[in-house]
Amino acid sequence: MVYRKRRVSHPLRIGNVTIGGDAPIAVQSMTKTDTRNVKATVQQIGELEEYGCDIVRIAVPDEEAAQALAAIKKRTRLPIIADIHFDYRLALQALESGVDGLRLNPGNIRSAEHVAAVVRAAKEREVPLRVGVNVGSLPKSLLPEAPLPDRMVEAAMEHIRILEDHDFDLIKISLKAFDVPTTIEAYQLMSEKVPYPLHLGVTEAGLLKAGSIRSTLGIGILLYLGIGDTIRVSLTAHPREEVIAAYEILKGLNLTQRGPTLVSCPTCGRCEVNLVSLAEAVEARLSRIKEPIKVAVMGCVVNGPGEAMDADVGIACGNRRGVIFKKGEVVRTVEEKDFLETLMSEIMEVARSGGNQFKG
Ligand code: SF4
Repeated sequence: MVYRKRRVSHPLRIGNVTIGGDAPIAVQSMTKTDTRNVKATVQQIGELEEYGCDIVRIAVPDEEAAQALAAIKKRTRLPIIADIHFDYRLALQALESGVDGLRLNPGNIRSAEHVAAVVRAAKEREVPLRVGVNVGSLPKSLLPEAPLPDRMVEAAMEHIRILEDHDFDLIKISLKAFDVPTTIEAYQLMSEKVPYPLHLGVTEAGLLKAGSIRSTLGIGILLYLGIGDTIRVSLTAHPREEVIAAYEILKGLNLTQRGPTLVSCPTCGRCEVNLVSLAEAVEARLSRIKEPIKVAVMGCVVNGPGEAMDADVGIACGNRRGVIFKKGEVVRTVEEKDFLETLMSEIMEVARSGGNQFKG
C-alpha cells in the first residue's frame, strides 16, 4: 500500500513556521497554566519547545489573560496562537500584543462591525485565523437529519464564508470530534472543499494511554491519506505528553526525522533481566535528544541484535552480561550494572555525530 499524495493546501505563516503547502507537518500543543500567570506560562512554553513543539496555543478567557499576552510574547520564541471565544475585544488586544495566530470563529461574534474590526486587524498584521469546529458546539440551525460530518463541515463553512466575504484567506481549519470515524470523514469532506491548511486533532481524546491511541488512529489515518498540515494530540495530561505523542505519530508514518526512535522487544521466556525498567529509563533519557537516532533495547543476546538490525545503537541483555550492537553488529560486551550508562554513552556518541542513518 502506498501513501496517497499529500493534499496541497495554501501555505500560511504562523510566526516563523509555515503551515501547509509542502512544509513539514507542524506539531502544536496548548499551555495548561493560568495564562495570567506569565512566569508559569512562559516556563511551560519553554518546556514544550524543548520537546519539539512548533507552535503553542494559549487560552485567553478574559481581559487579564489578554493583557498577559504581550509579556508572554516577549519572553518566548515559539509562535503563539491566542484561543478566543466570542469576545472581539480580546481578539483585538491579542493582535496588538503581537500574537502570531488566532483561534476564533467569526460567526460567534455577534456584531458584523466587530467581526470586520478583528479581520481588518488580523489582515494588517498578516495573522492567520483558525476556524475550529467541535462536534459539541454545532449550531442548532443545521439540519439535524444531516450526517454529523456534513454538519461539522457546514458549520465550519459558515465561518469561512464570513472571512472570505472580508477578502481574508489566511485561514486554517479544524473539525474535531471524539469519535474517530466522524473526525476522519469530516476532514476528508473538508479537504475536497477548500484549499486551506487543516489542523488535525481528536478532541477530548482522554488520558495519556487511551487518548494517545485514539489520537493516533484519527490523526494517523488522515496523515496516511495525505490530509493534514499541523497536528495536536489533545490529552488529559501534561502538554509535553501531547508533543511526545505527536512526534510518535509522525515518526510512525516516517513524516519526521526529529528525535530518537526507541525499539524495544516485548520480552519472552528468554529474557533474564527487568527489561521494562531498563527500556523506561532509556526512554526517559532519550526524551530531549533532537537528533534522529534509532535505539534498541532487547531482551536476549541470541535474537536481540538480529531482531533490531536497523537500530543505530542497541543493547541485547543476557544473564549478568549483555552486548552493545550497532546496525546489528556486536561492538562490545557489558556488565549488567553498566547496561544503562554504557548504552547511553554510545547513544550520545552517535547523537553528537548528528544522529544517523535513520531514513525517515
Ligand atoms: S529479543 Fe529475545 S527476549 Fe526479546 S522477544 Fe525476542 S527472543 Fe524474546
